[in-house]
Amino acid sequence: MARIELNGLSKRFGDVTAVERLDLVIEDGTFTALLGPSGCGKTTTMNMIAGLETPSEGELRFDGSDVTRLPAGERNVGFVFQSYAIFTHLSAFENIAFGLRVRDVPSDEIVEEVHNVARLLQLGGVLERSVKELSVNDLQKVAIGRSMVVKPDIFLLDEPFSNLDAAFRTYMRAELKRLQRELGQTMVYVTHDQVEAMSMAERIAIMNNGELQQYGSPDEVYNAPVNRFVAEFVGSLTMNFLPARIGAVDGRPAVLLAGAPGAAIELPAVQMAGGPDGALTFGIRPEHVEVVDATTGRHDLRGEVRLIEPLGPRTVVHVGDGERELRVVVRPSDEPRIGDCVGVRFERSRIHLFDDATGRTLGGDHG
Ligand code: ATP
Repeated sequence: MARIELNGLSKRFGDVTAVERLDLVIEDGTFTALLGPSGCGKTTTMNMIAGLETPSEGELRFDGSDVTRLPAGERNVGFVFQSYAIFTHLSAFENIAFGLRVRDVPSDEIVEEVHNVARLLQLGGVLERSVKELSVNDLQKVAIGRSMVVKPDIFLLDEPFSNLDAAFRTYMRAELKRLQRELGQTMVYVTHDQVEAMSMAERIAIMNNGELQQYGSPDEVYNAPVNRFVAEFVGSLTMNFLPARIGAVDGRPAVLLAGAPGAAIELPAVQMAGGPDGALTFGIRPEHVEVVDATTGRHDLRGEVRLIEPLGPRTVVHVGDGERELRVVVRPSDEPRIGDCVGVRFERSRIHLFDDATGRTLGGDHG
């Protein structure tokens, strides 16, 4: 168990800056995800924590001690990668036992520790088998078990479930979360899959182009994204973005949505900052838009139902007018029909406004 501190950590490969002045504190015993698109610097960050890459700048501390130049073997860090890195000529038992054997742990202790890990990972039935006979799912469990058994202070996992089938991946996510709780280990998990990060981690560090965008709880990054990148990257259904500008209605500040007919949404003056011409981007998640009767005057915009996507517990309805199209989540029982003219209403407290020049979120409280 350890607290990890990254202070201004950078890594350059020739002209490529993989990680740029990263500041991050990963608290002892937390489950943290490094999330971002391919090439954003997640693996490089992980490798620096593991000691497999030397930072170009900055420092790394474990529990306050400077480990920036400490060799990987002296860091007590365990890791699991997408490729399992297991010995194909050994049994599942011997693969898990490997780290203990090289540390000269007595045999009876090895048997006990391996069986403990196998029980946690539900591998009991296959321990004596050669790994050549194991399913992909069990192989990945063996790889996790191998790292776990030596009780590392820090456990690093880099996209470990990418090779697994969808059902088993979902199962393993829950299992890993349970394991982490049980062991209270500091766990850092790299993924490009926001569902994976949101469902497992207590804290998520979102990266793009080598830079940290936001570091917060799943609730914070979902409900209060600091910029458009985070707003777009997090959430199973992509946020709706509409061009807008700052204006006024009857002398009161409002956001005016572009298009004809446009819509004016009155919002508190506190967040009324935008580009020089007042241009900004209005964002709202599909689950925060309501389909309403177009004739009652409660709507912000009106449009035609163009597409319906049933997703089981919820349905996504595409409502369009002209070139503009909004995705709206409705209950399956409230599904309109294709071609219906409907109104849509935006939940006021869930509106996000973004500066067009910087992408940053404008204002704080949109309530
Ligand atoms: P992925 O999920 O695709 O692995 P990532 O977010 O983990 O992406 P990194 O693998 O850390 O990103 O790579 C960040 C950037 O650094 C990329 O532009 C990559 O091409 C570059 N890079 C990584 N390792 C090296 C290396 N050894 N030599 C040169 N460039 C590298």
